[in-house]
Amino acid sequence: MTGRHVIALGLAVAVVAALLAGVDDYGLRLLTLAAIYAIAVLGYQLALGHAGVLSLAQGAFFGVGAYVSGILTTTHGWDGAPALAAGALTAAGLAAFVAVAVLRLETHYFALATLAIAEVIHLLAVNWTEMTGGANGIYGVPPLALFGFVVAPGWPLLIAVSGVLAAMIALATWRVGGRRRLVLALARTAPLAADCLGIARRALRFELFVLGAGMGGLAGALQGHTVGVVSPAVTDFALMVSFLVAALIGGRDRIVGAVIGALLVVHLPEWLRLFDVYYLAIYGVALLAVIILAPAGLAGLLPAAGTRPPNDPASPPRRWQGSSLDAQDLRKRFGGVVAVDGVDIVLPTGRITGIIGPNGSGKTTLLNLITGLVAADDGSVTIDRARLDPMAADQRARAGLARGFQHPEVDGEQTVWAAVMAAQPLNRSMVRARAQGAAALAAMDLGGWSRATNDLTPAECRRLDIARALANRPRVLLLDEPAAGLTDGEQTALAHDLRRLADGGLTVAVVEHGMRFLLPLADRVICLDRGRVIAVGTPAEVVAAPAVIDSYLGREAGAAAANLLGGA
Ligand code: ADP
Ligand code: MG
Repeated sequence: MTGRHVIALGLAVAVVAALLAGVDDYGLRLLTLAAIYAIAVLGYQLALGHAGVLSLAQGAFFGVGAYVSGILTTTHGWDGAPALAAGALTAAGLAAFVAVAVLRLETHYFALATLAIAEVIHLLAVNWTEMTGGANGIYGVPPLALFGFVVAPGWPLLIAVSGVLAAMIALATWRVGGRRRLVLALARTAPLAADCLGIARRALRFELFVLGAGMGGLAGALQGHTVGVVSPAVTDFALMVSFLVAALIGGRDRIVGAVIGALLVVHLPEWLRLFDVYYLAIYGVALLAVIILAPAGLAGLLPAAGTRPPNDPASPPRRWQGSSLDAQDLRKRFGGVVAVDGVDIVLPTGRITGIIGPNGSGKTTLLNLITGLVAADDGSVTIDRARLDPMAADQRARAGLARGFQHPEVDGEQTVWAAVMAAQPLNRSMVRARAQGAAALAAMDLGGWSRATNDLTPAECRRLDIARALANRPRVLLLDEPAAGLTDGEQTALAHDLRRLADGGLTVAVVEHGMRFLLPLADRVICLDRGRVIAVGTPAEVVAAPAVIDSYLGREAGAAAANLLGGA
């Protein structure tokens, strides 16, 4: 702990002590409700802030938890702890069921689907009278009892609920803290890059949505036992709006933000009560002000703990474990356009293969088919005789395929160091991840590891994109126009680094238009035209091929290209 931490902790304790000093029964009740809301908001942050899915069902999950626990304790005589668990698990189970059906939908469709589910839950709460008590709800829900002891209202209840909140904070920290936080940010801001780095985005989203719903259900169950009644109000959309507002005001991806947001959402109406009828207007203005002035929420104003890069410079790895890649008869049709029309391509281990061809000839699509970003209509892809084509993009990446992008997606807020840390498998130890991250940056000659990626030049962004692909220790690296937009000097430096990778054993393929960059670099070249391979061979053979001169280079450029190689 540094001096600043001590001061911050001291201040926090002072604020909490001030809030608690002289608090009456009503104040304790509000704080208890705030702690309950904080659990629900924390769960909501997992979906909204970390998984990046706009769910509108967190209120419904809260309601489900309240009803399940309320019904089990009142009409079935269950004990508190198992009833709470049942409430949480039912909400999580419902979320899992929903997720299987709709989690792969785009954001706004997913939001609509969750809204519909929330509506169904609300209708059930109102109309399934035998089970829910209809509009009257369930009365006489017993106070919280844990392990046979009834928790008295007031301080004991506040402490018990705060304990549950602390446990949920620990759980959330485990699932979305540390390196996971970086991986999740990458999955949200750069989904294609994340797929090609082997990040199982779907599985992460599923886990967080379900876990978050479980926390919502747990919070609902706690609230039922705190207020003694479960009525259809717990499935009301207004509650969902409160959670959303709390997450936005507090901060959607910082744990402390859930607590701040919940405290405010519960207490603001009390504080603003003296404004009488203007209350809602003031509430709205305050909300807008926070969203405009602190877009990352109030917690976003606090300093964040980052991952520190190592101080020692690293040296580029000498050896890479390259593999040969063999793709046969790849085909892809987009409507009437046949983008890739039966391409065979072999990438030998430790060699650089250049892929050239006119615009629209299918080069990028070919890389997309190999990496699995686009599903092929036909064809096979093998690395070292292992079939990749039945796999999704992230599985292929885990099997050793890496991809650099024509337009790299990097998260401007993150540092260079965070980017290479986010790119690595979560099961890799921290020590090894740091070593690999440093080696990958050294391999791409990228310094200034604490810089935000916003401050990088385009050439450095390209290098970072390749470095994070290398951090995974791939067997095959595919690059799409890496030299586009680079100065001559930057191109020479990049060519030098790529040559070093191949000499170290990595298999490299480079799609490129810049002949001055590619021809001296490539060991072999293939030329595409309208989705077909029209020439394969050494750079000299390919630039001299009549089909390549006719359809791509033209006579003059062809001669110039041949000259480029003549000197070599
Ligand atoms: P290149 O990278 O060689 O310039 P592309 O692979 O990007 O070529 O494109 C090949 C052809 O496929 C082009 O005619 C392009 O318009 C078409 N195409 C590529 N991607 C899509 C897509 N997602 N939807 C429809 N058409 C596409
Ligand atoms: Mg392209």
